[in-house]
Amino acid sequence: MFERWREQMVKELVIGAGIRDPRVIDAFRKVPRHLFVDPAIRSQAYSGKSLPIGYGQTISHPTTVAIMTEMLELQGDEKVLEVGTGSGYQTAILAELADRVFSVERIQALAVKARHILEGLGYYRVAITVGDGSLGWAAHAPYDRILVTAGSPAVPPALIQQLNRGGRLIIPVGDENHQILKVIEKTDSGFTEVELEAFKFVPLIGRKGWQL
Ligand code: SAM
Repeated sequence: MFERWREQMVKELVIGAGIRDPRVIDAFRKVPRHLFVDPAIRSQAYSGKSLPIGYGQTISHPTTVAIMTEMLELQGDEKVLEVGTGSGYQTAILAELADRVFSVERIQALAVKARHILEGLGYYRVAITVGDGSLGWAAHAPYDRILVTAGSPAVPPALIQQLNRGGRLIIPVGDENHQILKVIEKTDSGFTEVELEAFKFVPLIGRKGWQL
């Protein structure tokens, strides 16, 4: 049943949304999204609905996860930093496509739960820590890719510092109601910046994000 729903999600909300990278599409076929939400709402896991994961947070919409993942242009050998683990679903998708994934979540209970689910599924090349991801995760820097899954008022400087040369950072930036997706690439002489589509994300709360 879940497999059939997953295939329908892939057709409608991934391929149907314009995703073309076959590796990204395969990752969505593999990761059991229903295991990342509460058992009571598993039947809705493959819909396009915004679903709660507790603590006022939501699991990202499949299309949003797909678009941001494709934009990372992962080849398989990258070290990735994710800011905002949430349910761990996006983390699993990244783990399917990259070599190692480091993920920071500010809410301890979510981090613990996500770690448990990811370990249960055999994603051993993933590390999750509890902290303020607006400061990155310096201990494992530099990263080939950085993905921020919560909206920030500005690009936190630590994230640019922790990006490898030739690396790519994707972050929603804007006010609390409306953000654009920024794609920042670190070059030998500095960095380039491209702005894409409008999105609505939960806030990045932290020293270099929104203050509580
Ligand atoms: N991609 C996740 C998923 O698929 O479940 C959903 C992420 S949710 C939209 C954003 C997450 O960012 C929330 O879990 C929130 O607690 C977290 N967050 C917000 N500010 C943060 C910060 N400064 N550091 C780390 N995590 C943060």
